[in-house]
Amino acid sequence: MTVHTDSSELVALRHDLHRHPELQFEEQRTAALVARELAAAGFAVTTGIARTGVVGTLRKGTGRRVMGIRADMDALPIHETTNLPYASVTPGKMHACGHDGHTTMLIGLARRLARTEFDGTVHLIFQPAEEGEGGARHMVEEGLFQRFPCDGVFALHNIPGVGAGQVMVRGGPITAAVDVLNVTIHGVAGHGAIPHRAVDPVVAAAAAVMALQTAVSRNLDPLDAAVVTVGAINGGVMATAIPEAVTLKIGLRTVTPDVRVLMKGRIAALLDGQAKSFGCRAELDWGEGGDYPPGFNDPGLAALVRQTALAMGQDAAAVDMRGPFMFSEDFAFMQQVVRACYFGLGNGDSRALHDPGYDFNDRLLELGPAFWQRLVANFLPVP
Ligand SMILES: [Zn+2]
Ligand SMILES: [Zn+2]
Repeated sequence: MTVHTDSSELVALRHDLHRHPELQFEEQRTAALVARELAAAGFAVTTGIARTGVVGTLRKGTGRRVMGIRADMDALPIHETTNLPYASVTPGKMHACGHDGHTTMLIGLARRLARTEFDGTVHLIFQPAEEGEGGARHMVEEGLFQRFPCDGVFALHNIPGVGAGQVMVRGGPITAAVDVLNVTIHGVAGHGAIPHRAVDPVVAAAAAVMALQTAVSRNLDPLDAAVVTVGAINGGVMATAIPEAVTLKIGLRTVTPDVRVLMKGRIAALLDGQAKSFGCRAELDWGEGGDYPPGFNDPGLAALVRQTALAMGQDAAAVDMRGPFMFSEDFAFMQQVVRACYFGLGNGDSRALHDPGYDFNDRLLELGPAFWQRLVANFLPVP
């Protein structure tokens, strides 16, 4: 079988997955397809981890080293507007993050590994529910790495706007933690003409939003990174009444555990203090949004990914990242318990992730499996 034929078969497979997107923990059809493909490539297949998660295992030689590679399988509740011939057949569901491509690249790798020499064990890990419910966390909690211990685990994400196939990697912090805080500022309702009998939560909320602008600027080392965004503010219904309460939704992004703790503490203190200064009370509810931790790349594994990219002819200036991604990724739950490395793979000039007009770049179905294959050969070299 020539590489060309292999890659056009993968294009057909990716388009089939794209046509049939499945949301978090509903990836039954996708998981069945993955299991079928892995078995056909000679892998031992384990299904049903965190409901729809699949692990394919292939061992060669006598080496004891074990490598894990993760792909995500879920789609998003977004209505596709691409008008592509293989667009989603399900209104309101779409592969707008390229997980159809990530899954297909790993199937491509499985086919290549069937005819590649390496020394050790490879576990290909297909996880559900990356987009919000933390499928990676569920797989870890169900004993993924007790059942399939790994010396190193890798994952990638396609990155729109970066040259197709270009690798982006760094050691240390790699993806952001995201925390969502729901706040209710309680006052005392009243007539708009009698403000001295009321306690106005609108004024307190306005002051709190401005005070939050100092959470990063006045508390954080200027060389560290964090983002605090008040994404929603709601309260009141008319001009002549003071409402009882105002609600805020606040998003916090951080890239290290220390900064995450510091920022959560400062945000809570600012909200509490501002509310009290106006006679109001702030009620804080952390937790919506999955609470993904920050992702941390093992420096040795990141160096191996970098070397592999450079050996394949990539430009070091493009490979080395200036700082971490500010998006979050539930692979971080795996990174908390095993040595791991997450990296970007350029998707070329495409629409943004989660855009209804986005599509995964089919050129990566050739470049991605080739890169994974080289990385396996480098991590599990034949003696
Ligand atoms: Zn996404
Ligand atoms: Zn994604």
